[in-house]
Amino acid sequence: MDIYDALIVGGGLAGLLCAREIAKEGFRVRVFEEHLEIGRPEKCDGLISLRALKELGFDKDEKFIRNRIKKASLFSPKGYELSLKAENQEVIVLDRALFDKEIAKQASNHGVEISLGSKVKHLKKEGLKLENSDFQGRYIVDAGGCQSLLNYRKEGVLQAGKYEISGDWFDKDRVELYFNQELTPGFFLWLIPLSEDYCKIGAAGYRINPFKVIDRFLKNKKCTIVRKIAAPINVGGTLTSFQKENLFFVGDAAGQTKPTTAGGIYTGGMGGIFAGKSIVSNLKGERSLSYTELWKRKFSKEFDVMKMGRKLFERFNNDALDRLFKILKDSSFEEKVPLEGDFDFHSKVFLSSLKIKEITKLLFFLAEVEYKNLLKGLKKISKSK
Ligand SMILES: Cc1cc2nc3c(=O)[nH]c(=O)nc-3n(C[C@H](O)[C@H](O)[C@H](O)COP(=O)(O)OP(=O)(O)OC[C@H]3O[C@@H](n4cnc5c(N)ncnc54)[C@H](O)[C@@H]3O)c2cc1C
Repeated sequence: MDIYDALIVGGGLAGLLCAREIAKEGFRVRVFEEHLEIGRPEKCDGLISLRALKELGFDKDEKFIRNRIKKASLFSPKGYELSLKAENQEVIVLDRALFDKEIAKQASNHGVEISLGSKVKHLKKEGLKLENSDFQGRYIVDAGGCQSLLNYRKEGVLQAGKYEISGDWFDKDRVELYFNQELTPGFFLWLIPLSEDYCKIGAAGYRINPFKVIDRFLKNKKCTIVRKIAAPINVGGTLTSFQKENLFFVGDAAGQTKPTTAGGIYTGGMGGIFAGKSIVSNLKGERSLSYTELWKRKFSKEFDVMKMGRKLFERFNNDALDRLFKILKDSSFEEKVPLEGDFDFHSKVFLSSLKIKEITKLLFFLAEVEYKNLLKGLKKISKSK
């Protein structure tokens, strides 16, 4: 049987970027994608910064860029709005299906073999098993997305739902996020415009039907729904290790999505690139940093802070959220974010945008929320006795 240098399960962005990096150095790589077309069905909204896109190896004028975002508005349950200018962050909206196809083109130009309609049934250290064939590889990469992650870890994955709609009541330049712990507990509803009359609206949260939440949001708004899709998102953080001997995990399969927004194009894409580079070093017999270490050096501080932020956020009720928005509105937050902003490391932006006085106010507020939660817990216990 033919032995490949690397076999990759999943022709999404993380798998294809990993394949590209390995094949670029002259090694033999094969990618297996269960669907009949790269990039379809498209689940992702495609929000990413130009800086991150460049790091993944693409230009700012690529044809898969559908829109450029200039503003973001965050709404509290009662409707308090935090309005942020986003021009400095250079945020764009990708056509994700076209983007994945472009990575596939780059990979295949370097000699990667891509097999479509090829579902991997079984993955082990020595190789892969498909319906009617087996393949052997020196390195195996699981890039099978969130569905794969569920094989290794059950918690931290939410069901998201998304519509694509045509309408005329939203702003082409502005992303909108709506927070409400009763409708979307632990997450939010989002609106991402693609043009003046076309946008994506999604919702996610613990134990909810996201489509019902979107329907409620759209109830009095004139629009035509042209597409609906449901897909899981990961907010539970990463696997502890991204590698077991010759078996590598990249992208969503490794949990490389931000614990706050579940964004993973940049962080998962870099996972694919780092894994590819590490496999190349191993194949060449060179000593190098482990793939897990490479990725964690770049992202783990940011992910740790985001995870902490998520834990706090999940303990807020709607009243607390309204108050938090008011504290931020009264602070210098809205003016400072546009100046200090970095879309890819937003916990840093959040902290650096506040003065000591405002951080102290926030800490008192958090202590009060915790105190109220504690009282509620104690009341419940005494009632049950
Ligand atoms: C609704 C939604 C909106 C999002 N919006 C954003 C956003 O705006 N910005 C952002 O940064 N991130 C966003 N994300 C997250 C982002 O889409 C993912 O982090 C990213 O797609 C991960 O890439 P991946 O290659 O790891 O996985 P995927 O893109 O999911 O690719 C995995 C591939 O593996 C294939 N596969 C799986 N199992 C097998 C098998 N056994 N055999 C063969 N093939 C298999 C699948 O068909 C798929 O093509 C969003 C996610 C969702 C669900």
